[in-house]
Amino acid sequence: MINKLMLIALVAVGLSSCAQENGAKMEFNKLTFEEQNVILHKGTERPYTGEYVNHKEDGTYTCKQCDAPLYLSGDKFDSNCGWPSFDDEIEGAVKRVPDADGRRTEIVCANCGGHLGHVFEGEGFTDKNTRHCVNSISLNFEPEKKASSDKTEKAIFAGGCFWGVEYYMEKHKGVISATSGYTGGHVKNPSYQDVLSKKSGHIEAVEIEYDPNITSYEEVAKLFFEIHDPTQVDRQGPDIGEQYRSEVFYLNEGQKQTAEKLVNILKDKGYKVATRISKADTFWKAENYHQDYYDNKGSLPYCHGYTKRF
Ligand SMILES: [Zn+2]
Repeated sequence: MINKLMLIALVAVGLSSCAQENGAKMEFNKLTFEEQNVILHKGTERPYTGEYVNHKEDGTYTCKQCDAPLYLSGDKFDSNCGWPSFDDEIEGAVKRVPDADGRRTEIVCANCGGHLGHVFEGEGFTDKNTRHCVNSISLNFEPEKKASSDKTEKAIFAGGCFWGVEYYMEKHKGVISATSGYTGGHVKNPSYQDVLSKKSGHIEAVEIEYDPNITSYEEVAKLFFEIHDPTQVDRQGPDIGEQYRSEVFYLNEGQKQTAEKLVNILKDKGYKVATRISKADTFWKAENYHQDYYDNKGSLPYCHGYTKRF
């Protein structure tokens, strides 16, 4: 991720310094009357009318006026305020200035000064406690080019009810997919009932596919330890039973070492970690109604949540 961002930053710096050296005014995109009203004259589009309010695709939001990359889809969240909301910006891409109203903080594109919206802190929407409230009309969107399959890596974690683990993993930057399923048992293609009845020996687990250029096994594994309680033995929250135990299934020696390192860090911090570290076995995808459970239901996980532990 850092490499990508640095590249973007270098390109952006390179472009602007070239333009200055040449003494030429940077070419900006032509704006429509409505776009000018917001981007140049600091207007605000009506809530719930913008193109990107409920937009969920993976990719990068760029500046309508100068094309500079501003926000990543992984930092977008639902605030129900009527405008696209992000809890972080691409490093150095957004400038904060005191608003003319004397109360709020305006945000503008750091490259061209185009008005984006306002930034609010301390509202508690996400762990970053920050909400960039951005006008859709100030943005363009570039869909992410899906990484080719030979460049992705996988990881398997079990941390209680798979719905919650899948929910948080899918929102992590660089995670391409998270799939709820079963592993660690002794029959082929187990059903939810087989697992629930403990007949098959499987536990609920989530298989993650991620882009190692954007995130790493260590980052994904850290998140795993922060979205479930690794000190609970054979249960997670209200879900009790061996099939809800905490377990890392490593796919190679490097993953094993990373998982052991993280467990040791937590133990040094005083956590009585119950997480088992085991060699990965066949991962069986769960029934379709278990996939994207919370997103389809439009609700939040009942027994998982983010707690900073590292
Ligand atoms: Zn701009």
